[in-house]
Amino acid sequence: MRAEIIAVGTELLLGQVVNTNATFLSEELASLGIEVYYHTVVGDNPQRLEALLRTAQQRSELIVMCGGLGPTGDDLTKDVVAAHLNKSLIQDEQGLKHLHEFFEFSKRKMTENNLKQTLIIEGGYGIQNPTGLAVGSLITQENTTYLLLPGPPNELKPMFLQNARPLLISLFPQSEQLVSRVLRFFGIGESLLVTELKELIDGQTNPTIAPYAKPNEVTLRLTANAPDEKTGEQLLDKVEEQIMAKVGAYFYGYGDENSLAEVTVAALKRNNKTISAAESLTGGLFQGMLADVSGVAEVFKGGFVTYSSETKEQFLKIDPQLIEEHGVVSEECAIAMAEQTRKLADVDFAVSFTGVAGPAELEGQAPGTVWIGLAERGEPTYAQLYHFNRDRTYIRHSAAMTGLSLVLKAVTKKS
Ligand code: ATP
Repeated sequence: MRAEIIAVGTELLLGQVVNTNATFLSEELASLGIEVYYHTVVGDNPQRLEALLRTAQQRSELIVMCGGLGPTGDDLTKDVVAAHLNKSLIQDEQGLKHLHEFFEFSKRKMTENNLKQTLIIEGGYGIQNPTGLAVGSLITQENTTYLLLPGPPNELKPMFLQNARPLLISLFPQSEQLVSRVLRFFGIGESLLVTELKELIDGQTNPTIAPYAKPNEVTLRLTANAPDEKTGEQLLDKVEEQIMAKVGAYFYGYGDENSLAEVTVAALKRNNKTISAAESLTGGLFQGMLADVSGVAEVFKGGFVTYSSETKEQFLKIDPQLIEEHGVVSEECAIAMAEQTRKLADVDFAVSFTGVAGPAELEGQAPGTVWIGLAERGEPTYAQLYHFNRDRTYIRHSAAMTGLSLVLKAVTKKS
């Protein structure tokens, strides 16, 4: 089945909103064995949307649209699709009931235009919205199916997963499914990873291997085409094994969402270990990454941002003599920062960051020169020297990510 996705909204064309719905929907449709051939974005303009529908119906069997189901005048997707199909809009009874209940419960006055959100295209299915008021619609006419979903991702995702996906499965059972898996790597650039995996990538047919570079990490998406999920997973296991034999040393986790911070926090939790940090050039970035992970409080109580020599001495009680002798961009300073933090915060691991974020030099050292220290309860403290490149933002990000990977390695080495 050939599908395409049309996102409706002028805010997308203006660059104010990123079209994340298309990414989500493409992945979901692929997992159902439905191939997406086009992504299009169109503004809130009925003539251009109608023109696009005329093109789309000639090349696609499924047209998934998102956005423009709201109560206001510029929310026109349903009206345009209904007119295109020569159908009228009718009230969806279940959606209407939900709308009344919502306003009764929240003690708010319903306005006339709210009723517009519960209209669906005559002859089609109403698709209920578990987290909002706009009802989605699905209708098939002349071998083309139109699926209308709301714009806000927090409405679109639950509506798709809970209500639209099962409907698509029952209406269009597929003989083949796409099963995918994402592998995440840190500490290896995309070009080296691809070189290491050249033979596998060149010879790929099923599963396919698609590399994707993100700041400071690379992901590989493996996609298998199989009659069922189990067979697909087996095909993925086999190719994953071949990949791991070559670049397994850099692998840190699975999935699109699991960041290095998430994987590190999960490992700390699994091993009942706590963490703290003292940050100079990263200025709290490392601790911010930890705090982005929900439930981190179990392993992270707090830490230090010691940007100047004075705060290193004041907060961490580092001997001014040490700084005078070795400078702040030094192995000695990184070790002292990590050790003091571990003791003061009474944690199992403490990481320290001291170096030159740039663009100016510091203590005669070039931007990107960074010492990262790691103190572990019961183990000798050490610091490692790195030379990160690119700009200030990238250097600080590289340092924080490297700190996470050092902790992850230390926590997982014994488990
Ligand atoms: P509402 O009832 O909120 O008006 P709607 O279905 O009419 O919903 P839009 O008005 O088109 O949706 O979009 C509402 C918001 O949803 C946008 O301002 C934007 O923040 C988000 N949004 C819309 N389309 C997309 C998209 N393709 N990807 C990501 N976010 C989107």
